[in-house]
Amino acid sequence: MEHDAAYEQAYRQARAMLDRARKDKTWTAAIEQVRDYQRLPPAVVLDIDETILDNSPVEAAVARRGGAFDPALWDTWVRQERATPLPGALAFTRYAASQHVAVIYLTNRNASEKDVTRRTLARLGFPLPEGDETIYCRGDRPEWDNEKSTRRAAVARLYRILLLIGDDLGDFLPGVRTTPEQRRRLAAPYLNRFGERWILLPNPMYGTWENALYVSDTPLNDAEQLRRKREQLRSMDDAIPAGSAR
Ligand SMILES: [Mg+2]
Repeated sequence: MEHDAAYEQAYRQARAMLDRARKDKTWTAAIEQVRDYQRLPPAVVLDIDETILDNSPVEAAVARRGGAFDPALWDTWVRQERATPLPGALAFTRYAASQHVAVIYLTNRNASEKDVTRRTLARLGFPLPEGDETIYCRGDRPEWDNEKSTRRAAVARLYRILLLIGDDLGDFLPGVRTTPEQRRRLAAPYLNRFGERWILLPNPMYGTWENALYVSDTPLNDAEQLRRKREQLRSMDDAIPAGSAR
């Protein structure tokens, strides 16, 4: 219940901010948008996975198998079209479309998964206008890798971006695939955007926050990754008197 309420809360906030942003022609959410945007048609940019679609069943399957991401299992899940809308996402995107705000989906799903993703979103009732391409996948163009900033820049040439909505720091900022300390430094100048121009949703299952724990000159095996995770816990163990019972 708390998970669902957190999503409802975020999308209610997004709607309030959308109403404010539409009236303020100087407003843009994207740091990639720097000039000549005031007259562009408005858009909201949303990530897909764990932002508008719930993939927790495939993550549960991954956890049962020992925790390592399995691209083949992920692709099977995507093609089965069993993902469901997250609370608040449908109502928000439909509201935006009703206010003539374009709804852009910017996802790190592969270009090869674009058709099935479009079918899934359409079947679930997400706004998808005829004619305009509103789904931006990784690999749609050769230079579009998992760094979303280049695609945000492409969207920024066509639209004034009112809001960015996502579950990963990479949905808002470039260069987030680095250490936890560097990620904090990157985000520090922009903290006042969260809850206003940037709507962040919680994802405790995966994300660049987790990859940041494994930054290393050599690839880490599963045991080493687990050790890194444990090292990062801010534990009170050292403050517990010796010999005290748990
Ligand atoms: Mg996501």
